[in-house]
Formats: sequence, C-alpha cells, structure tokens
Amino acid sequence: MREFFVRSFALLLATAMIANAMNTNTDSNPLLAKWEGPYGGVPPFDRVQVALFKPALEQAMAEQLKEIDRIASDPAAPDFDNTIVALERAGQTLNRVETLYGVWSATMNGPEFQVVQREMAPRLAAFNDQITQNEPLFKRIEAVYNSPAKAKLTPEQQRVTWLYYTNFVRAGARLNADAKKRLSEINQQLAKLFTRFSQNVLAEETDQFIVLKSEDELAGLPQSLRDAAAAAAETKKQPGTWVIMNTRSSIDPFLTYSDRRDLREKAWRMFVNRGDNGGEHDNNAIITEILQLRAERAKLLGFPTHAHWRLENSMAKTPERAMQLMEAVWKPAVARVHEEVADMQALADKGGAKITIEPWDYRYYMEKVRKAKYDLDQNEVKPYLQLEKLREGIFWVAGELFNFNFTPVTNVPVAHPDIRVWEVTDKTSGKHIGLWYFDPYARAGKRSGAWMNAYRVQERVNGEITTIVSNNANFVKGKPGEPVLISWDDASTMFHEFGHALHGLNSNVTYPSVAGTQVARDYVEFPSQLLEHWLSTPEVLQRFALHYQTGKPIPQALVDKINRSATFNQGFATVEYLSAALVDMKLHLAGDKKIDPDAFERETLAQLGMPKEIVMRHRTPQFLHVFSSDSYSAGYYSYLWSDVLTADAYGAFVEGKGPYDRAVAERLRKYVFSVGNTTDPAEGYRAFRGRDPKIDALMKKRGFSAKS
Ligand SMILES: [Zn+2]
Repeated sequence: MREFFVRSFALLLATAMIANAMNTNTDSNPLLAKWEGPYGGVPPFDRVQVALFKPALEQAMAEQLKEIDRIASDPAAPDFDNTIVALERAGQTLNRVETLYGVWSATMNGPEFQVVQREMAPRLAAFNDQITQNEPLFKRIEAVYNSPAKAKLTPEQQRVTWLYYTNFVRAGARLNADAKKRLSEINQQLAKLFTRFSQNVLAEETDQFIVLKSEDELAGLPQSLRDAAAAAAETKKQPGTWVIMNTRSSIDPFLTYSDRRDLREKAWRMFVNRGDNGGEHDNNAIITEILQLRAERAKLLGFPTHAHWRLENSMAKTPERAMQLMEAVWKPAVARVHEEVADMQALADKGGAKITIEPWDYRYYMEKVRKAKYDLDQNEVKPYLQLEKLREGIFWVAGELFNFNFTPVTNVPVAHPDIRVWEVTDKTSGKHIGLWYFDPYARAGKRSGAWMNAYRVQERVNGEITTIVSNNANFVKGKPGEPVLISWDDASTMFHEFGHALHGLNSNVTYPSVAGTQVARDYVEFPSQLLEHWLSTPEVLQRFALHYQTGKPIPQALVDKINRSATFNQGFATVEYLSAALVDMKLHLAGDKKIDPDAFERETLAQLGMPKEIVMRHRTPQFLHVFSSDSYSAGYYSYLWSDVLTADAYGAFVEGKGPYDRAVAERLRKYVFSVGNTTDPAEGYRAFRGRDPKIDALMKKRGFSAKS
C-alpha cells in the first residue's frame, strides 16, 4: 500500500537530555545551520555526512531543551502567546536536523547510518518524553486551555491549544512520577525495537534475491522485466544473469508473468517470509515484545488497549467503529475472491494445467483472466505510460484543480543525482508556493514502496514560510536515454503520492503543528486517494498517456477496456489489504496477553475465513506500517476509512460538471486541501460535501454488493 510520512507532533515539540555529551566541533556542524539559498532556504543535502548526525541531533536537542525550559519557567502568567506560540516557535533547529536524518533513514541508509540510528532512536524517544513530562510546561498549557480567554482566540488558535493539551495528556502528562518513569522506559525500549524491526526487514530485502541463469528461467517475462532484472544483476554483482530482488516492485511483476510455477513459488515464499526466517533477522520475538509494551503503556494511560489509545483522536474515534466498517466490506470482498478464484481455476483447467490455484498462481492467472474477460493486456497499456509524461500529467492536473504551475530548478542541492526539483507557483499571480522534490528510482539503501515527505511545512508564525515537499518511489531505472515505462498501478500510485504533495502545497494555515498533512491518520489518505481518480480522466490520457515510440495517445478502445475492467480483481486487492488491516487491529485489541505472531496471524485468518489463495499484503513479521513506529499501528484500516470519503467525494465532481469542475475544486481546496488540522475533519468534509459521507460509493467503486 502507498505510504506516507508525517512529522509527528512529538518531533515538533522535541527536546534533549544530553547537554553534557556535546561535542566542541558542533558549532560548525553544517546540519545545524539555518537553511540558506533561494526560496527561504533549502535543505543542505550536499553537506550531509553520516558522522555529523549524532552531534547535530545532540546539540539541536539541547538547544530545544533550553527553549522549553525558558517557556516553562516564564514568570509571566501563561497565555496563548507566551506558551502555545512560543512552543510553535521552539525546536526549529531540531526540525531541520531531523528532516535530513529522516531522508537518510529512508533513502540513503547503510551500515554506518544504522549504527547512528540504533543509538539515537531511544534517545530521541526519551527526549520527547522529557518535554511531555515537563510538569511546569504542562501546567501552563493546561492553564491556557482552561482559561476563559480561550473563547476569544480564533478557531485555529483554539484548536492548536486543544491539540497541545490533548496530546500532552495522551502522552502521560497527568501521570504520577513512577508511572511517567515507566512510560519513558517503555517508549525508549519501543524505539529500539522499532529500529531493529525495520533494519531486519531491510536486511532480508537486501540480502535475499533470486538469480536466474538461463532463457528457460525467464519464460513469460516481458522485455521490460528482463531489462530490469539484468540491471539488478549488475548491482548485485551477478554479471550475465538476471536478478529478482526481494522487494514488491520486483516480485509482483515476476509473479504476474513468469511461466515457471516452481520459480513463482520460490519468489513468493522468499517475499512473504521476510522477517520470519529464524536467525538474526527474525522479527517474531520483537513483535511479541512490542505488543506487550504497547499494551502496558495503554493501561498506564488509562485505555483498555493500544487500539483504543491510538484511535481516540482519529476520525473513527473507536476501534469498534473501524471494525464495523472493515467487517461491512470483508464479507462481500471474500465472496468476490471466491468468484475470482473460480474464474482462474476454470481457465487453468481449460489449459490443461492440472493445478489447484495457490497464492503464487493468483497474479499469474488473474492476468490471464483479465485478457480472456476484458481482452486487456497490461503489457499493451504499459508503452503508453511513460514516467516523465505522467509526471507532466500530474502537473497539468494540479494546474487545472489548484492553479499551480511547475518549473524545474537546478539551483538547489539534492541527496542523490537522480533527484530533481521543481518550483511551484500560482499560475495567475506567479507567487511562490513551494518546492517539490522527486526521487523516483530504487537504489541500495532506499526503503521500498512510495511515500510523500514534508521537508518544511507552510506556516506564518515564523514569517511567511513556504513548504517543501517530496515524492519518493522505487521505479526501476531504465537504460540511459530510454523512457521508463510503468504499470497502471504504478501510475495510480504516482497520482496518490502527488495527492499528498498537493495536500502539503495547498496548506494555508498560521501554526506549523496543524499545517498540511498533519491531520488525523484516518483522514490523511483521503486527499491522496482522491487524486488517483484523475489518472483515468480522458483529459489526462489524451494528453499524457502517449506511446513511447509513436507519440500517439492511448487508443479509446484500450481506454474503454480499462474502464470496463475497473472493478476487476477488487476481491483480491481488498482482501489482501483488509486481512492485514484486521490482523493489525486485532493484535492491538488483544490486550496484554503474550502473543506468538505466527500463531495469532494463522488463527485470526482462519476465524475470518481468509481465502487460502491469498496472503496478507504485509504479513506480521514484515508489517513496517505497524512495527517500524507507532504511526500506523492499529491504523492500517485508515486507507479503507479514507477511501469511503474518497469515493463519496469524487461523486461531488461526477454530480457537478465532471472531474475538472472549478467550483467543486475550489470547495475541495477551501475545506479539505488548505485547512490542515485547523478544523475537525468530519466538519471539513461536511462543509465540502454538504453532508456526511456514505459507504455506497465505495462499494460501487469496488464492485461489491452492500447487501451480501
Ligand atoms: Zn498515502
């Protein structure tokens, strides 16, 4: 599933515990400096050295700790300005360092960096606790929150105040000293475990791969895949062979096209067993410990389970409401899977394959059914999907919906030569809006998947600050000078991540902690999933889905086939995702009983009636969303929750003048894309749509009957 990074509330508040460990050289540490250059300053990616991270983090934490102490010990009576605004202004140095640190963690990772990460993760966690557990500071926040003067603040100011108050309480600000100490121990231990979990998955994705040595082993693979596998062989120092890497972007196409059932099974087993192979990179024991610590922490904080704690400030509010939605969709989706499998089995039987459909057959036969039923060959579509043309397409859509213009810039440093940057301006006024960094290709040390990241958020507390956002993906870089062709799914992912970027770029708020994409976890995927709809609009396809050799637009007949098959395979896609979301939620509703992840997964799926032909999209031992941090824990359901909004919201365009209806787009900007977390998301949605969301559009979009 597409992923997304948010700068956590805790990071915005962050501080330090290690003033004594400061290195005398840090005064000249370039990671600490104010960002220089055009556009209000840009990240100094050209000055990063891994050895600089630790001293920079230490000094930035120490600096923030001093700022926090000044706020907490202010002799003046607490008010919004001297407390909340002061907090919003604090920690800027650490924000800058952590931005660079985050980019290295996700895209430039390596053994040297991992040593720093293992040391700094628990220290950053302890540092965050030191702020939320600062009693004089909390007393001031509480006083502002409870003051009658609050009623005179603007709605945004009131919401920011509420957020500080509620987030401090949720982080344990009200606990007694012993409980606070235990809470901080738990958070530090969790930070260590999260780091080990992530590094284990990365190790198995890097160290394991399949080497193909003969034409016979390449049977069925299209040329683009052979080229990618040959390129991968070079990086793995396996000259003259073809390498299938242990990442989704390498495995999924192999499972789709390889005629070699034995190799499909081998590839499938390698991929689904990441983190579950015993030995030094096995994640099972780590998961058991994470779950126990989370359960203990939830109890300390006064919640029955980790899931209840996580969902309190979400749009769903309770795990029960999230479960209700998942259960409403689960049965119709499973019913559809049985139909899909029957179609595949019939086709296999007809071809005399003499097999029973197994998980490693699903994608392969799914493709054959797609051809048989809709006369649609994905390989026929791909030549029209050039990465760079589609990038122009998303720019054009942003111009139509939000009046944005994109101009390439070369005067800012980047972390890697493959990364390119564009300036975003208003088409009419020419006003600078922000910067968009694009890091499209897979490389060693870059985590798999696709995600958006904000390097700097829009705000007005520290002056007119414009945003800097990035989109990151793992496309396989083609041969020099040749266009990179991507699949329909990948094109859809590009629109998705760009939706997050637009959410950041449209931000129009005052306070940094409520800017851009820093909204409730189950709301944040709404703008991004909504953007996916624009890929299939005729306006985009006619202009940007151009054949890489002839330059001709994708034929209407092919588009019709794509549209007719829109709900094809939704059983698989939904069950693959939803099984993972359900296991995530049930793991975090289980309380403090000791959990064996493999057994829990197996038993839960059996109870759910999981079709045996499908495996969870992320099996527990590799479920990075859930175990690399707290952020998507008990929160993987968010994609479905947001998709209810997405499907329903697109209806506003359909009922209007179509996908480029300016009036609807303006409402979308005003009530959704520009407001960040300044309003309650349910209210924002209602203002946009004129009513609450309904589930009907989602069921229709996925081709399910709501009744079954
Ligand atoms: Zn997303």
